[in-house]
Amino acid sequence: MPDDPETGRRRVHLVGVAPWRQAVDFYYNPDDDLDLDDLGFTFPARWAAGDLFVIVTTDSPASAVVVVEETHHDSTGPDSYDQYLGPFDDGLSVRAVERRLGTPLPSAPATLDTASSERLIAAISAEEKSPTPWRELDERGCVAHSEPVEPYSRCACCGKWADEEPVLVHHLLVDIQELEFFGYGPIVVCLTCHDLLHRPLAPSSDDLMFGFRPLCPRCSAIRTCQVDRGFPAGPPGPGTLLAGCDRYDPVTFEYRCGSCEYEWTDDDGSYQPLPTDLDDDVVARARTAAIPDNVYRPYSRKGEPGRVVIGRYAPRGPSPHAAAWGDAVYHEFVGQDGRIYLVDPTTLRSAEPHTWETLHPRPDES
Ligand SMILES: [Zn+2]
Ligand SMILES: [Zn+2]
Ligand SMILES: [Zn+2]
Repeated sequence: MPDDPETGRRRVHLVGVAPWRQAVDFYYNPDDDLDLDDLGFTFPARWAAGDLFVIVTTDSPASAVVVVEETHHDSTGPDSYDQYLGPFDDGLSVRAVERRLGTPLPSAPATLDTASSERLIAAISAEEKSPTPWRELDERGCVAHSEPVEPYSRCACCGKWADEEPVLVHHLLVDIQELEFFGYGPIVVCLTCHDLLHRPLAPSSDDLMFGFRPLCPRCSAIRTCQVDRGFPAGPPGPGTLLAGCDRYDPVTFEYRCGSCEYEWTDDDGSYQPLPTDLDDDVVARARTAAIPDNVYRPYSRKGEPGRVVIGRYAPRGPSPHAAAWGDAVYHEFVGQDGRIYLVDPTTLRSAEPHTWETLHPRPDES
């Protein structure tokens, strides 16, 4: 590693990155259809080969270190880096690092002197090994301003009621997007969701709420509404719809897509099983298969095994590369979102649920 000629130590530069959600996607999200158009880094004017870049978010609710990278060339050379520490998938709190250092960091872009550089890397390593609990930092004031939660409350994120999750607390909203979505603040959350919301690069509380729900089987939208039946104690929260009780409707839809308006239930029993010799124009429902050992599919929510998808079943195989693949049939499925899925053929079912007639066929029709 090339060293600083005077001290034998390398310098650390603080590099800013924004928008922080795109930075998180850039470093951790393996999906192939990401929007990274606005992603931008702010570098210092000059650096030497072997210097370290501490990549810090500049627009997140709590500033966070995303990764520490080592440069291969100086500022006149090509861009080439190796990861030195991290990436920290939930972010590493800049406030916690400053507390360890006993002094605030300059805002990015900035170049530290060599002594400060060494202390900063030591503080980041220490924080990585033993993260400071968010309650000690309380950057939003949730601990300082805690108030008792009303009985008969439920967690705004995971939906658990007070009797399932006995401790519910208030979480203060700061993000304009969250405030617009919930229309008020603070929200009531369980302790588990509260800890998730206070990770340095946490999802917003509305994103966390949608994260507990399945993606739309038809268009893969993330924002899906939960349908509540019956007569709840209070008005449904945002992202929840209220449906009346119809005793004669054999199927109870649990979800409705906010984008394409498809309604469905996770219960496979509500849909008619289909044979695998389907005509290729039949729109069917199936669950995605576990990813085979010899196929590389990076993890993403769209490719998650067991997910319900709507589309056409189009099995392929045995493969011409039978030696490599074995003579397995590939149970491919062309999703209505345009993606190709591998599905479990035993889960093929009708895309529309049972009706009263399919559940109770007349003897002369069956
Ligand atoms: Zn919760
Ligand atoms: Zn909170
Ligand atoms: Zn949809």
